[in-house]
Amino acid sequence: MTKQSSASTPMPFLTIFILSLTVMWNTNGEAQTTDPPQFDRSEVVSDIFEPAIPCVEQDQRIRERLSALEIQQGQRPNVLWIVVDDMGFGDPGCYGGGAAVGASTPNMDHLAANGLKLTSCYAQQTCTPTRSAILTGRLPVRTGLTRPILAGDKITRNPWADEVSLPSLLGEAGYFTMLTGKWHVGESEGMRPHDIGFDEYFGYYPAQKEITQRLDTRRYPGLTLNPERLSIYEAVGPADALIHGYKGGKTDEVSRIQSIEDMARADATLVGHTVEKIKQLATDKKPFFIEHCFMKVHADNFAHPDFAGKSEAKYPYRDAIHEVDFHIGTMVQALKAAGIEKNTFVFVTSDNGPQMDAWPDAGYTPFRGAKGTTFEGGVRVPGIAYWPGMIEPGRTSDQLFDLMDLFGVTMNLAGVAPDKLPQDRFYDFIDQTSFLLDANGDSKRESVYFWWGNQLMATRMKEYKAHVKVILPQATHKYIDLSLVQDVGLAPWYFNLYLDPKEEMSVGHRLDPWMATVAGKLKSHGATFKRFPPKNIGL
Ligand code: CA
Repeated sequence: MTKQSSASTPMPFLTIFILSLTVMWNTNGEAQTTDPPQFDRSEVVSDIFEPAIPCVEQDQRIRERLSALEIQQGQRPNVLWIVVDDMGFGDPGCYGGGAAVGASTPNMDHLAANGLKLTSCYAQQTCTPTRSAILTGRLPVRTGLTRPILAGDKITRNPWADEVSLPSLLGEAGYFTMLTGKWHVGESEGMRPHDIGFDEYFGYYPAQKEITQRLDTRRYPGLTLNPERLSIYEAVGPADALIHGYKGGKTDEVSRIQSIEDMARADATLVGHTVEKIKQLATDKKPFFIEHCFMKVHADNFAHPDFAGKSEAKYPYRDAIHEVDFHIGTMVQALKAAGIEKNTFVFVTSDNGPQMDAWPDAGYTPFRGAKGTTFEGGVRVPGIAYWPGMIEPGRTSDQLFDLMDLFGVTMNLAGVAPDKLPQDRFYDFIDQTSFLLDANGDSKRESVYFWWGNQLMATRMKEYKAHVKVILPQATHKYIDLSLVQDVGLAPWYFNLYLDPKEEMSVGHRLDPWMATVAGKLKSHGATFKRFPPKNIGL
């Protein structure tokens, strides 16, 4: 069989090496033709999908296990995504943080110890791009949602109008779908969670800081102590209301954040809603998809009275991590108490790296860079998959996972076939269900691509990462507020992340034979935009 590899520029000596392996011998000593091993193992199966590494037997095992589970449970599995805002890779104890960095995280540690801990799990570098990518299976540059939509932004078209969202696909497959908590992907009609496919929305549209700057005299006296400016801001600023929205457009304002303490209590209220919903849905004979998005630990953090001083650090950011961890435990406990833990796929992650510009109200990453950059510190995030009975306890994997792959995993679990997707656009997700569920599952993803706005910055392939553009802070840790985007010189900045996880020592073209192949991935990725031009929404 001839395979069509997605590799574009193999090195000449590599070609000779490959040719020498094309004839192998079987155990009887008879010559047989086999496919030569390729450095780039991914294969093009369709010109609208990201090339994937074939894992035929692994896929088959998981298909059989999922259909056995469906027969046993009498319905498709539930899905619960838990997204923490701006949590650092190094914050949870199971990732080397926890008490060592001032906030123990027993619940996340428990899920990791009893599930799968991913150590090369990637988000986009800020909130809106990640949140839109995981619900569309497409890179932000394709949908136009390339950065957070902020107060005063005027976009030229609704990016959601022609996207096919995950909740809409799941709704058609018989699922109840709900998003709880932070949205941050558009507040106007047509862009709200309950407009783009979710049956129900219960949460706040913006990030914590955008709400509390109206109230926080210590940080924003120029606004809070100036009634005229405050009234101007109220007219253009993001909503500060707790919204309860329903598919079809009904949108209730439940309450408003009127004090710092209201903000501090917001996550407890949101978790209460998710927990009540889990209890109620468990009695229905209908599978559900819940995306629970915490407000914490995005700056500015204010400790809930029950959690103030409860972290080892006794500092608001660390108290917030400790609180979020507690609530994660509560939601998983709710699944167990409702008797549906064994029929629910849970995934815990963060939408981007820590926001170092807000330090000390910021998380920890052991890597270079932070939120807003495409160095590892901005994009490598915790990723814990938990599903008793379906995921073997204590698994860890360093193979590649992009949070967009959750789109494919969730489609698969809900029984939504890829041919339900429109064929006139490119999809970047890979269905990684068998990687997450098989006992020693392999990732089907050969490379992850990193974008900043409309600019292609870098790619990771295996343990190698090639940057063609970089974001350089002009003051220590000012990755968002005082940084430059720059082209690299003649050669890509090229790092071996196993030898150099902080991306400081470029191994360059002299020391590594794979650089051209890794950089070549950027070329084949870029070619997808020639076939399917990106959407511009005026951001
Ligand atoms: Ca975020």
